[in-house]
Amino acid sequence: MEFYEVEPTLDNYWRAIILFGRNVASYKFALAKSLYELNAVSNDLVKMEKLAEPFSRHLCEHLKLESKQITSKSSKFLSACNNFNADKLSHDELIKQTVKLGFANVIDAFHVVNNGEIKHRFFIDERKQNGGIRITDNFFKLAEHEQFTNFEHETEARWKLVEQGWKMGVARNLITVEYDQELKTLFTGTKERRVDITSCRDSLNGYQKGRCFYCYSSISVSRKTDNLADVDHFLPWTLKNHVPNINAVWNLVLACKDCNRGENGKFARVPTIKLLGRLHKRNEYFISSHLPLRETLIQQTGNNETRRKQFLQQSYSIAKATLIHEWQPEIKGIITF
Ligand SMILES: [Zn+2]
Repeated sequence: MEFYEVEPTLDNYWRAIILFGRNVASYKFALAKSLYELNAVSNDLVKMEKLAEPFSRHLCEHLKLESKQITSKSSKFLSACNNFNADKLSHDELIKQTVKLGFANVIDAFHVVNNGEIKHRFFIDERKQNGGIRITDNFFKLAEHEQFTNFEHETEARWKLVEQGWKMGVARNLITVEYDQELKTLFTGTKERRVDITSCRDSLNGYQKGRCFYCYSSISVSRKTDNLADVDHFLPWTLKNHVPNINAVWNLVLACKDCNRGENGKFARVPTIKLLGRLHKRNEYFISSHLPLRETLIQQTGNNETRRKQFLQQSYSIAKATLIHEWQPEIKGIITF
């Protein structure tokens, strides 16, 4: 799979797990979120009782907002979480049930991406020998990575997207994800009755891996930081009456402030044709990923790659004919996509 073969760093592998792993249940997201907050160091043994606390807490929190957390009809473990939410089960009992039922598939399946195990492990299953999982050096290295704080946002964004896909189940090919420019959120439904699914930044960053789409300098999706990414229209917003669906996912990227609005920023200029190729590759990546961005992109840009290329080419030609000037960024970071 291209996503992690291009740049097989540890954070690519981790993102591949979150973005491409099996999604028959949301347990993987809960496990990832639990691992973030445990602050475990290399070679630490995390007992199942300890893991059960954040793991069940994240699932209980999500269950309060979205009842569907699994593709199968029922789960004893999720029933326990629901009972806890309804004050019918004590916290101690929830932890016991989580240890007993909650990890049945997620520990085994965590490192499986597109039906195959990835070659790096972030923990080792020692449930039989030692009653827990052992954190590997890989996870520890990941935690030291500058992008680590973004993972939590991405995991939550992905979780919400998967939930939304399941919720809309039968009508999934009707899902259209749109962008609210003021709120910087993606939503489904209509303006009158909409469901906010996630921050736009969090969804887009899964592909860009914390790098500006144009110049590859480091960007953040965390609101507390100075280098918070801008959500940028690849073909400028000013073309809104010329290019169809300009305010949609196919045309949105994350950019650093310099590229978006700095001294040599893009503004109302058209990115070079090479960058259009990069955008196409990014959109195809989303399509090879799962619901609901996939369905939206197909609806908006075409149901096969040739059509989607044509759509991009046509939009690009309109942009070029309208705005004339081209823009090309200076590369400021490692080329990662
Ligand atoms: Zn940039």
